[in-house]
Amino acid sequence: MDVSELLNDLNKPQRDAVAAPLGHARILAGAGSGKTRVLVHRIAWLIQAEGLSSANILAVTFTNKAAAEMRGRIEEMLGYPIGGMWVGTFHGLAHRLLRLHWQDVNLPQSFQILDSDDQQRLLKRLIRSLNLDEAQWPAKQAQWFINAQKDEGLRAANIQVGNDPYSKTMQQIYQAYEQACERAGVVDFGELLLRCHELWLKRTDILAHYQQRFSSILVDEFQDTNTIQYAWLRLLAGEQGHLFIVGDDDQSIYGWRGAKIENIQKFHQDYPQANTVRLEQNYRSTGNILAAANAVIANNSERLGKQLWTADDDGDPVQIYQAFNERDEAQYLVQMVQQWVNQGGERSQCAVLYRSNAQSRVIEEALMQAAMPYRVYGGLRFFERAEIKDVLAYLRLIANRRDDAAFERVVNTPTRGIGAATLTQLRQIARETDQTLWQTATDMVEQNSLAARAANALSGFLTLIDSLTPIDDSMALHELTQLVIDESGLKAFYSKDKSEKGQGRLENLDELINATREFMRADTEEDMPLLDAFLAHAALEAGEMQAGAWQDCVQLMTLHSAKGLEFPVVFMVGMEEGLFPGQKSAEDPMRLAEERRLCYVGMTRARKTLYLMHTESRYLYGQEMHPRPSRFLAEVPVEHCHEIRSRQPAGHLSGLTSRQQTVSENGYHPGQQVMHQKFGPGVILDTEGSGTHARVQVNFKQAGSKWLVLAYANLETL
Ligand code: ATP
Ligand code: MG
Repeated sequence: MDVSELLNDLNKPQRDAVAAPLGHARILAGAGSGKTRVLVHRIAWLIQAEGLSSANILAVTFTNKAAAEMRGRIEEMLGYPIGGMWVGTFHGLAHRLLRLHWQDVNLPQSFQILDSDDQQRLLKRLIRSLNLDEAQWPAKQAQWFINAQKDEGLRAANIQVGNDPYSKTMQQIYQAYEQACERAGVVDFGELLLRCHELWLKRTDILAHYQQRFSSILVDEFQDTNTIQYAWLRLLAGEQGHLFIVGDDDQSIYGWRGAKIENIQKFHQDYPQANTVRLEQNYRSTGNILAAANAVIANNSERLGKQLWTADDDGDPVQIYQAFNERDEAQYLVQMVQQWVNQGGERSQCAVLYRSNAQSRVIEEALMQAAMPYRVYGGLRFFERAEIKDVLAYLRLIANRRDDAAFERVVNTPTRGIGAATLTQLRQIARETDQTLWQTATDMVEQNSLAARAANALSGFLTLIDSLTPIDDSMALHELTQLVIDESGLKAFYSKDKSEKGQGRLENLDELINATREFMRADTEEDMPLLDAFLAHAALEAGEMQAGAWQDCVQLMTLHSAKGLEFPVVFMVGMEEGLFPGQKSAEDPMRLAEERRLCYVGMTRARKTLYLMHTESRYLYGQEMHPRPSRFLAEVPVEHCHEIRSRQPAGHLSGLTSRQQTVSENGYHPGQQVMHQKFGPGVILDTEGSGTHARVQVNFKQAGSKWLVLAYANLETL
């Protein structure tokens, strides 16, 4: 593609943004207006028109998948590979920098990443060792506290605690946690960025090197950056670099994780010379979907404010389905996917979005029953499954003996006669001598300070890890993985479990071998040993890679993970008070506003058809509930939606009697012939409600059955 072609297929403001002279820029626009598209074209423009080398560009995206797509798209446009460009998530990029500078940041060369689960386990142990009451100081709470501090760029020593006993204890836990991580040579997600930021502050020579190299920095989904991420970007941009940020304040959905919407305005203050471009045309959704989403988000105050329009047709109205219960909701959804497929669509064009992972189970069951392939993003991710984490822990210990979290996980898994008393002793000595568990265990075995049985068992474990550690790199990664699975006893251990679950675990172990066999280091990781690259990949991309064949699958994911994506057909399930918005959110205006933005994100993923679904009764978290429809449903203007009722036995439906009573009140009755301007002739099937809420269900000859609000329907009786 030559330079001028890069600007084809862009509207005027998009072109202006892509071809703007070098400088800072801020693209502020609603969903589906082409922000990501502009960012991709801008990168190609920088290379082709401004003559930048791809090595001068650093782009931050929200997921690794988005990063890979972006690279692919640019390479396609340019017609050649762009190896030198750095594109990835904040975590991924920071990880890469720390790998390159492990010595400067005091980490072992093959330092490992603690995921959220590892982090929680470690905290649990620490809280116990500090003699704190676990009921009063739950590990999860400490985890939130520590992560929030790190997102703000604060170390334990920097926190202002004053006399507040709560913060004091939290600080104490944070401090113990910092020491434990330091000793083990591991970092958590928040640490990746924080440590990188500190490195740059401390080593201005290193910072200067990267500032010089990355003269152009581009950031997608900027509205969800947190304090440390923004500080990191500013530092990297320095005086010379150019920041190109794109975002939408209405789509900020990570406030609960420290994201700061205000960064959008802050950017404007920090870079007053930056050019702001607004995009207003939506290219993704039909008129009805867009109008419905616009109407919902209009209920939030304190917006930067914008209106989106589309040149597309109105399309189908938004379908609001009232289910009888969650199984009915799932079944209807399956039927609608089937209908889409029968009409020539693909399953993978359909996405089911939910507020909470727990909602997916019932939907998965319905899909399974219908033998309809599906794929769940997130949820219990492949690399987070217990059996997979066991193998990974062996591999981590093989890569880095200091990794205490890995040591803890597998020292007695599968059981090899190392008792709780031995472990307690081991931990205590490790703490007192400020040594790793591995070192302490080695010393204890050498000094004969253990009972013979315990000593044998422990020494057996140490020898096992040593014997599994490759002496050179002649062994392929999948061979090593296979060896670990066999020799560690994990395979025998899981083989004993003959249940379906146990068999599933064995299959997962096989799948892990496949994953290691197929694993290819990204060109960005050339300088890393393969094992380290794989382990980092498992930690950083846990949610995005899944084992199993790639087929034409229905896509299941949370609303949060749907950000930035688009699908022809979208089902938003569980639109109920107490679930979406959740009860706590409903009570707090800030949180409610964030839930509404999440609703806006969900609705704007749909291109052609959007289903909003709720049920009259739902069994969730072990409780039966009778939720009211979500307030967000009431915010969708009736003229843009079409309500559908469950076809479950009528006796189950609430409000039946009131419906019968209103028949004469509305002046309509079942069996009556009517005419609608758009849908033509039809017969009334049912009526309900009164006054402005009165509705009728009409079976139209051509358009089929529809619920219409009488006040808007303009029906003529025949
Ligand atoms: P989100 O806020 O959801 O991330 P976005 O603003 O990043 O959305 P894109 O994903 O870049 O929007 O674009 C939405 C859709 O519109 C894509 O399918 C994209 O290819 C298409 N699109 C954007 N601009 C144009 C254009 N000028 N002509 C044709 N299609 C376009
Ligand atoms: Mg986008």
